[in-house]
Amino acid sequence: MSAIKLYLTSFADNPLDTVAQQIIAQQKENLPQLTNTIVFTAQTNLASELRYKLLNSARQHNVQALLGPQIIAMQQWLQSFQPADIKVVNNTTQELILVEALLQYPDILGEANPWVYAHSLLNLFHELTANKIQPQKNEQDFVEQISLAYGLPDKSKTTIEALGREAHFVYTLWQAWHKQLIDYAVVDSQTALLLCMENAAKEFSTKETIDFYLLGYEQLTQTECQWLEKLSQQHNVHYFLQGQQLKEPTDSKLYHPDTHITECIQKLSVDELINVGKQAEPARLEFLNTVYNTQNAPLIERVQAYKNKKPTPLKGLHVFSANDAEQEARAIDIQLRRWLLEGKTKLAIVTENRRLARRVRALLERSGVHLQDAAGWALSTTRAATLVERWLECIEQDFDYLALLDLLKSPFIFPEYDRDTLHYAVYRLEQDIMRHENISRHLENYRNSIINRQDRLPNWFEKNQDTGVLNEVLQKLETAAEPLLQLSQQEKITPPQFIQAIVNSFKILGLTESLANDAAGIEIINLLETLTIDSGLVQLKFNWSEARAWLALQLERSRFMPPASTTQVQLIGLSQSQLQKFDGLIIAAVEEEFLPGSPSPAAFFNDRVKYELGLNTSLQEKNERFYHFTRLLNASDNVLLSYRSQGDNGEEIKPSAWLALLEQFYQLAFDIDLQDETLQALVNSPENTFTHTASELAKQSHQPTPSMPENLIPEKISASQYQELMNCPYLFYAARGLKLEATDEIRQALSKADYGERIHQCLQAFHDKTDDLPGPFKAKVTLHNRDAATKVLSDIIQKVFSADLTENHEHQAWYLQAQKIVPHYIDWQIKHQQDWDIYKAEQTMSKELQINNSHKPLKLKGRLDRIDKNTEGLEVIDYKTGVISSNKNVETGEQVQLPFYHTLLQDDEHNVTQVEYLEVKSDSVKTKAKLTGEKLETIAEESAERLKEIFSQLHTQTGLPAWGNEKTCGHCNMQGICRRQMWQDSQ
Ligand code: SF4
Repeated sequence: MSAIKLYLTSFADNPLDTVAQQIIAQQKENLPQLTNTIVFTAQTNLASELRYKLLNSARQHNVQALLGPQIIAMQQWLQSFQPADIKVVNNTTQELILVEALLQYPDILGEANPWVYAHSLLNLFHELTANKIQPQKNEQDFVEQISLAYGLPDKSKTTIEALGREAHFVYTLWQAWHKQLIDYAVVDSQTALLLCMENAAKEFSTKETIDFYLLGYEQLTQTECQWLEKLSQQHNVHYFLQGQQLKEPTDSKLYHPDTHITECIQKLSVDELINVGKQAEPARLEFLNTVYNTQNAPLIERVQAYKNKKPTPLKGLHVFSANDAEQEARAIDIQLRRWLLEGKTKLAIVTENRRLARRVRALLERSGVHLQDAAGWALSTTRAATLVERWLECIEQDFDYLALLDLLKSPFIFPEYDRDTLHYAVYRLEQDIMRHENISRHLENYRNSIINRQDRLPNWFEKNQDTGVLNEVLQKLETAAEPLLQLSQQEKITPPQFIQAIVNSFKILGLTESLANDAAGIEIINLLETLTIDSGLVQLKFNWSEARAWLALQLERSRFMPPASTTQVQLIGLSQSQLQKFDGLIIAAVEEEFLPGSPSPAAFFNDRVKYELGLNTSLQEKNERFYHFTRLLNASDNVLLSYRSQGDNGEEIKPSAWLALLEQFYQLAFDIDLQDETLQALVNSPENTFTHTASELAKQSHQPTPSMPENLIPEKISASQYQELMNCPYLFYAARGLKLEATDEIRQALSKADYGERIHQCLQAFHDKTDDLPGPFKAKVTLHNRDAATKVLSDIIQKVFSADLTENHEHQAWYLQAQKIVPHYIDWQIKHQQDWDIYKAEQTMSKELQINNSHKPLKLKGRLDRIDKNTEGLEVIDYKTGVISSNKNVETGEQVQLPFYHTLLQDDEHNVTQVEYLEVKSDSVKTKAKLTGEKLETIAEESAERLKEIFSQLHTQTGLPAWGNEKTCGHCNMQGICRRQMWQDSQ
């Protein structure tokens, strides 16, 4: 006789073993035929493991091969019974239809975001349909049902109207949505599933008896339960659940790990309940049952009762409390690799914290340990999706420099260009146009600035490079942006128009090709294609920002599953861990935020109404998580629970109450702390600060000392770059080799550096002809022409600062400060001219320095502020408006700028006899540091020799250590790259 049989297997069992043994035992007469057996499992990824276990069990009956069974997800199987004459639309289309319906009711929608509203409402509609609650039948009945659920038995019109308002909204929108579905002649997926069930039940009502096995389905809806009951009239339904019922099943509203399974059992009319698997209660299970049976007795009493049984401390259960997320990730990395070194194979990290999951994944992959990440992550968080976001930001923000740089630095963009050439062009755009010329948006502005700079500095780009690629790139961006810009200005656009314009722009940017070579990029392209088709059916139109919000939502909801790997280490969420046992298991982020976490936000109906309607309540959600948590604590002999005590912003993070109770109980029962001290020591040990290899735990973290690959060694160097190399070789490696120099913020107000630039410009114009500025003052400055000279310099300053003054009134202070310099400078000039004449103002110089016979010469480059001359030779003057190195640092050669300038200028024709820093301040102008004569020659020679030696060593791959000098590090923005904090702490 056919029936529904429910099998309960203990947490201590391996459910797949139990199921396989049961199937083989029940079907042994038919072996090797299992063609009349169908296994429904939500975890189809476990199908091959189940087949393997079935075969193992069959071998005990001397059967070496099996025919069947079919192992499939129930929904997938049902879809094969879909009526041929219906067109089913997916969630994206359903949501668009619902938004279209919602927009017809502005009084209901109010200021709410229609997408968020639609998402919540669609989930509710699906749940209502799945539970056979159909508001479309009769509004009055539905409103009364909801009002009663709110605890309002008074059916007076006023009460129902006032408190059944929510029901009225749902009813109205449900009606509107269904009308739209009918108008479009389509069926929603949940209704389609009901039709499939009807068809399947009809078709199977006359078939010979089949055995259906259900694994991992604890969330059966009312319609599924009814369908299974109908199916069981003709066929055998074997329903497997793991766990145990509450001792008193009537307590099914309790907050307890067993409540979830008790409710599952109560939903279905079962003919027989059979306990299968091991019947003994292992020590761990017994301990956990006592810990969480909070309703039975107070904690102290439970502990005492437990201690009376004289238990021995449990093995293989540990806790790791991390200071922060970084430390937690490191602990997980180390623990997992400890297990791998011990030869354990089936390992898992279960966490609901996706950020932590990604961090752990990155750490492990760095060590060569690959993971099967079944949960994946939101497509929106991938590099490919970030690129799409940046591209659309460029359109919206008129090519703001930050969005534009991110876009241009993406590895996907413009694949047709040689990467070095493109990177160099982008580097120049960033350093010279954005930073130096302070251009922060508008393609035309970037282009004009490039032309101006090219006119001023013809050798601006290095040899063999020109602005061609940069101009081409900007032109392509403009062409690609044009159709999107037009759409952004239209009042209404259709979703396909929006998506198609993006797809077309991708072709010009070269993204169609490059995204197709990236796993996440392929997902993006597929998503855009699907969205074009899905939205093509709907007549909904929206404005640009609504279209953007819609696309962002789709990227957020689409999951990106990294390519599967064959490793035995799984990274999964709570519910994905069902039906499995592990050699080692880490439950990570055991914090209140995730376990139990907050209930899913619902726009409609409180818990009481949901309960009355048979929908899931927040207590049920919590109980389900509690069940999975307790199940997992039993899913391995080696379990580590980890959490962090501090968030990213230093805020306190609370461990999950389940964990707190577990730790407290254990401490009271055994007087032992569950904290894993060995792991704590390993994590704190400097030897394991970084863990890089899978075959052994990591070596100590040292100051990084990378060598520079030959192709990254710069071919030219300026005085400031040489100084960088002296201050911290690693900084030079990162900034000049890897070109990681951070982008300066584009400033709205003048900075000290801008001010200094302008003073240089003024003094240059005073001595040398400069386009569009007054001056120069050609005569020798003397006491007689002092006033005239003062006026010229003052006029120059006025002109140079005038543009700044119109931009921002705060610049007035800089202007006044500059004007105060004038008398001091004129006085200094009068005095200086007694010994020196102006020779040249601002000179860009370059010179080749022969390193050795095996390598190309190094090009020295620099801009000399001013060169004076007298009968004995030349003097280089460097104007300084900010901090100046002490004379001592200059004389010891620690500061390289002045000797560098000597080397740059000195040759057979130019005899440099003096170099100096001239401090130009509003209250004085004076020489601050100076090198002359023999001393200058010696220091310059030594400095040049040292530079040759260093570059020679660079070519032999000598390492560039991070020195961690307090003073240099204080101004360095590479701290995150050299990870100074990490190695300095460990020292
Ligand atoms: S932070 Fe300090 S050690 Fe690190 S690169 Fe910068 S200067 Fe060098």
